[in-house]
Amino acid sequence: MHDNTPEIEATIRELARLSMDRLASHPSLDGTATPMQLESAAGKTITPSGVGAPEAVRLWTDVLAPACITVDHPRYLSFIPAAPTKLAAAFDMLVGTSNVYAGSWLEGSGAAFAENEALRWIADLAGLPVTSGGAFVQGGTIGNLSALVAAREAAKRKRSTVPRRWAVCVTDETHSSVMHALRVVMDVDVVNVEGDARGRMTGAALRDTVNGLPASRREGIFAVVATAGTTNLGIVDDIAGIGEVARENGWWLHVDGAYGGAGLAAPSVRPLYDGIEAADSFIVDPHKWLFAPFDCCALLYRDPALAKAAHTQHAGYLEPVLAESAWNPSDYAIQLTRRARGLPFWFSLAVHGTDAYRDAIEKTLSTARAAAEMIRRADHVALLVEPDLTVLTFERIGWRAGDYEQWSDELLKSQLAFVTPTSHRGRICTRFAIVNPTTSENDLRLILDSMR
Ligand SMILES: *Cc1c(COP(=O)(O)O)cnc(C)c1O
Repeated sequence: MHDNTPEIEATIRELARLSMDRLASHPSLDGTATPMQLESAAGKTITPSGVGAPEAVRLWTDVLAPACITVDHPRYLSFIPAAPTKLAAAFDMLVGTSNVYAGSWLEGSGAAFAENEALRWIADLAGLPVTSGGAFVQGGTIGNLSALVAAREAAKRKRSTVPRRWAVCVTDETHSSVMHALRVVMDVDVVNVEGDARGRMTGAALRDTVNGLPASRREGIFAVVATAGTTNLGIVDDIAGIGEVARENGWWLHVDGAYGGAGLAAPSVRPLYDGIEAADSFIVDPHKWLFAPFDCCALLYRDPALAKAAHTQHAGYLEPVLAESAWNPSDYAIQLTRRARGLPFWFSLAVHGTDAYRDAIEKTLSTARAAAEMIRRADHVALLVEPDLTVLTFERIGWRAGDYEQWSDELLKSQLAFVTPTSHRGRICTRFAIVNPTTSENDLRLILDSMR
């Protein structure tokens, strides 16, 4: 298994060819299969003597890959899609075969250096100080959790007394991963701040909510989470106003830009993010709107030493790593072993330059604006909220839940598009999430026409 036999070399060539084909072609949307369908099509795949390379390759290409929906298809508009650049995806192959250990500087200094360059670009877009820094982690879920853990540790160090219960301010539109981190993983209370008509948290609402709390609850608050691009609606909270309240109260300001953080690079929407320069921590997922393959979240701290104090793991066998005063990415999040998951993003950013990223993000914004205008003009559909970024949430007038489901199933079955129903304030509707620069106005027109 560990020797380059002729058979293994031939298989490696075949895998390289398949990867090149995948990058060069426009794959179909494909779909989902049931466990029973897959069991009967694949048969028993793990056997004592192995099925052999040709059969395992056939299983992937003929049975398994077609049962995975193509997230980077231009008419995949559900959840938050992905649209890796060709070179980011290609470089991911090399990252995989190189198997760099990117948890510590000692073992992965070259990788950590390059990743830090990419983090620097993001930190500069946000206006964070030159001393800010962090690490690439698996996704927004781990990024949010790591940031909030660091925030609580910082609060513990700062305070002379520990409150009975810790708490964090959020809204109904705050991402489920934040709620999960707080309630399940950290056992922290949430203070729910009512969003405005578009679900946007404002500094004024935050101040009112907190002033209305009994002192015992207020004292437990150590952080507020502002969302820079809510997942369901794409709305950017009033970061400047929220940051002001956080500063007055000595709270940590965490900005969750997992989806929308990429908009920092787009001059046409940059003012929406004003105030982000005051964030204590910030995340953005390059695997969403920054054209990196799965999985990749950039996690940044204003003061990385506070994160390090919370996250550094100690053990006798780790001492050689810790003895270095150097930058260990594993010190800034909850994981130890780490794939160099920021490298595909770094490579593409290095090759194409930041202007190309700005332009590609602006392209998706202008496509979203054109689609919003189509929806405003059509009489069978209506926007439920005026968009900030590239998520459009809208309803088909007169449809019920069953109509959306049937339409959505049919779209995928016919391979036209992957668009799923959602709900907004109890109302069933649907949404377009546009992060793919190859999604065209015509793609969106076709889908809107399918709702007539
Ligand atoms: C997607 C998303 C997350 C979670 O990120 P993962 O990469 O899926 O773990 C968190 N917050 C927001 C706003 C998101 O859109």
